Amino acid sequence: MRIARFSNAGEIAFGAVELAEDNGPNPQTIAVLNADPLAGPVKYTGERVMLSEVRLLAPVIPRSKVVGVGRNYADHAAELGNSVPKSPVIFLKPNTSVIGPSEAIVRPPESDLLHYEGELAVVIGRICRRVPLERAAEVIFGYTVANDVTARDLQTSDEQWTRGKGFDTFCPLGPWIATHLTLDEAADLDIVTTVNGEVRQSGNTSAMIHGVPELIAHISGFTTLLPGDVILTGTPAGIGELRVGDEVSVSVSGLGMLTNPVIDQEG
Ligand code: ZN
Repeated sequence: MRIARFSNAGEIAFGAVELAEDNGPNPQTIAVLNADPLAGPVKYTGERVMLSEVRLLAPVIPRSKVVGVGRNYADHAAELGNSVPKSPVIFLKPNTSVIGPSEAIVRPPESDLLHYEGELAVVIGRICRRVPLERAAEVIFGYTVANDVTARDLQTSDEQWTRGKGFDTFCPLGPWIATHLTLDEAADLDIVTTVNGEVRQSGNTSAMIHGVPELIAHISGFTTLLPGDVILTGTPAGIGELRVGDEVSVSVSGLGMLTNPVIDQEG
């Protein structure tokens, strides 16, 4: 199932996306749900809307946190001249950095060097702490696409990552949450990032150093994860600059494409 959060006649709504590729009777529609499926059991309302006629929003606004993972692909660590860490490098992005599909990434005046980082994102489905590797699948609600936008100049000059990765708009998520993938399927997904239609990153989640179960075990070992928390699993090689006026798209096979323009902060 693909769960979308969207604006329907001015109200925030949730629904199951029905794509033409599913060969369903209602291609490119959303079957509306009565509530947020991350908050508890839901039912179909019976209403259907056309996907093309609603505005998709970030599929989740984490109540507490977005947890990022640094240097989780050896080829990306190497391109920045970094060694591969033994245990995952963890950072937090504020939930106020989250935006949805088509919303603008805003370059703040403090930075002259924005980078894209296309990533697979894991959405947590239940409250959990110290999750053993073999139970990781039980706490996953689904997967979505993320762009871990980074002010690389500030990440370097600050000598820690909070500001460089935490500005408002620096965490595009979407277009929806796919809840049907197994751990094995999630461990073999193509990630492609394009800027203005030109391919810049082309990787596969099979090249992660620490896989999704390992990340969940490690992260939940230090902090309680809540429903709606998001884990960004790291980016493959090919990171590079985003300039004002660019349009960046991240695609993960089977999950869809997340596209955002880049604008300057006014004033
Ligand atoms: Zn990243």
